[in-house]
Amino acid sequence: MVLGGILAHAGIMFEERWYWSQYQRSSRFEPVSAVTQLVQGIWEKYPSRAREILRERIYTTEIVPVLDPEMVKVSAKRMSLVTMAEWKKLKLLQNEEIVFDPQSSASFDDQNVSFTETQAMNFLLRELKDRSEQSSLPLYSRDRAVGAMLLSVDGQVLNYALNQNALNRTLHAETICFQGYWFQHREAVPAGSTLITTLSPCRQCAAMIETSGESIKAVYLEKDLGRFGSCAGRNVVFRDL
Ligand SMILES: [Zn+2]
Repeated sequence: MVLGGILAHAGIMFEERWYWSQYQRSSRFEPVSAVTQLVQGIWEKYPSRAREILRERIYTTEIVPVLDPEMVKVSAKRMSLVTMAEWKKLKLLQNEEIVFDPQSSASFDDQNVSFTETQAMNFLLRELKDRSEQSSLPLYSRDRAVGAMLLSVDGQVLNYALNQNALNRTLHAETICFQGYWFQHREAVPAGSTLITTLSPCRQCAAMIETSGESIKAVYLEKDLGRFGSCAGRNVVFRDL
């Protein structure tokens, strides 16, 4: 479904500087917005200062239900809706546009690779093990070991990714999977697809599932008992493998 979306804006002020993003959504099932662009772009560009910048309030002319509130909860702090007239008054002389190009997520060259849920999980566990064995980084600076794969109803691999959140805290495996799919295809994930993930999705990733396509299920290996691990209440069917 294509909507003639309006251009939405999001911005945040930190130390007399105004960081802003704009984005025009074209579909109901689109895991990207002005707010996600701003938050993810700040983490990408200023990994060492992002936490400090994003402690400030985000102002936006459009809040995308489910998606924006959950990304703000997990990867930023607070957000307010403003009118276009209010927005125009916010812009300072010292300002900087923030854009975010998602990491190109790994996909198979061969479009016809099919997996069962168990094969997908084993594939992800092997990839995580390989990455950890090849890494020379100390444990604390590594990405949290999580992998995710998106399978169509007939088991075709639509995308897969490993966490890349050591620097950009928003880049959870599931988020990369869904945003990568969107930027590559510019369309909703096929209805009824399944997300296979080694750890139960956090609320930000649960929001990605819900806003990327219809009736997408999530299958996980381990339950995340962390602060944002609870994805309860989201309109997604979860089960463990
Ligand atoms: Zn997550």
